[in-house]
Amino acid sequence: MKILLNKTSLSKSLGPFNDIGFVPTMGSIHEGHLSLIKRSNQVCSKTIVSIFINPKQFNSKKDFKKYPKNIENDVKILNKTKKVDFVYIPKFNDVFKSKNKPIVKLNKKDKILCAKFRQGHFEGVLDVMDKLTNIVKPTKIFMGNKDYQQLFLVKKYLKKKYNTDVVGCKIIRGKNKVALSSRNYLLSKTNLILASKIVKKLINVKKNIKIKKNKNKYLSTIKDDLQKQFKIKIEYLEFREINNLKLSNVINKSKIFVAYYLNGVRLIDNL
Ligand code: AMP
Repeated sequence: MKILLNKTSLSKSLGPFNDIGFVPTMGSIHEGHLSLIKRSNQVCSKTIVSIFINPKQFNSKKDFKKYPKNIENDVKILNKTKKVDFVYIPKFNDVFKSKNKPIVKLNKKDKILCAKFRQGHFEGVLDVMDKLTNIVKPTKIFMGNKDYQQLFLVKKYLKKKYNTDVVGCKIIRGKNKVALSSRNYLLSKTNLILASKIVKKLINVKKNIKIKKNKNKYLSTIKDDLQKQFKIKIEYLEFREINNLKLSNVINKSKIFVAYYLNGVRLIDNL
C-alpha cells in the first residue's frame, strides 16, 4: 500500500493503470468504509482510498473542529486489509486553489432533507468530489447508501462532467443496528444505547408504514413521539422515493429518511 501525499505523486503512481476504483473518505475508518473497499477490490484492478476532511462541506466551524481525526490508525487499518493499493492524504492546497465558497449551486428541488438543514454542505461535497475525481480519474467511485442524498447528488453531478461510474453500496450496521459512522466515535455509551433504541423503533415503523394511508402524516406523529420519548431533536423524518427523493406515499422503492441530534452529534440514516 503506497501513501500519496500530493497529486503529483498520485498521477505518477496511478498513471500506468486504467481501471481504478476510488473510495473517498474523511477518515476514522470503520467497517462501513471497509465494505466499500472490498467492493472496489472485487471490481477494479487497483483501489485508492482518500482521507481528506473537507472543510468546505462543514456548515459550522465547531463541527469541523470536533470531527474525529485518526490518520495514523486509519493507515494501519487500511494496510491490514491488503485490499488498498494507494492512500491519498492531501493537504487543503493540493485539492483546492482557494478558500472561496464553492461555485456549485443546488437546484431548488434538491434543497430538501440534509440540504435544507445544512446550508452549503452539499455544495462543498460536490466541489470536493469534482476536484478529487479530476485528480484521481477513477473508473468507478464507491459510496455508501448511508449518506443517500449525498450519493444521489454526487451521481447526478459527476455524470455531467466525467465518464466515471458512481456505485452505491449497502449500509453497514453494528450489532445494535446503528449505522456505522465516524460520528459515532463522538457518542457516549449511553447515547449509543439511545441510538440503538431509536433505530430499532424505526425498523418497526418501517413495517407498520405499509398499512398506513398517509405515510408522511404517520411519520410526523412518530417524529413527535420520538422527540418526546427520547428528548431528542429530529430535523426530519420523511418517506421518500429513492429514485428522485420526492415525498412518497407508496412502499415500493421508497425509504424512511431521518436526521437527528443526540447530545449535539448529528446522525443520519435511511431504512
Ligand atoms: P465519510 O468518511 O463519513 O465521509 O464516508 C465515506 C464514505 O463511506 C461515504 O461514501 C459514506 O456513505 C460511506 N459510509 C459511511 N458509513 C457507512 C456505512 N455505515 N455503511 C456503508 N457506507 C458507509
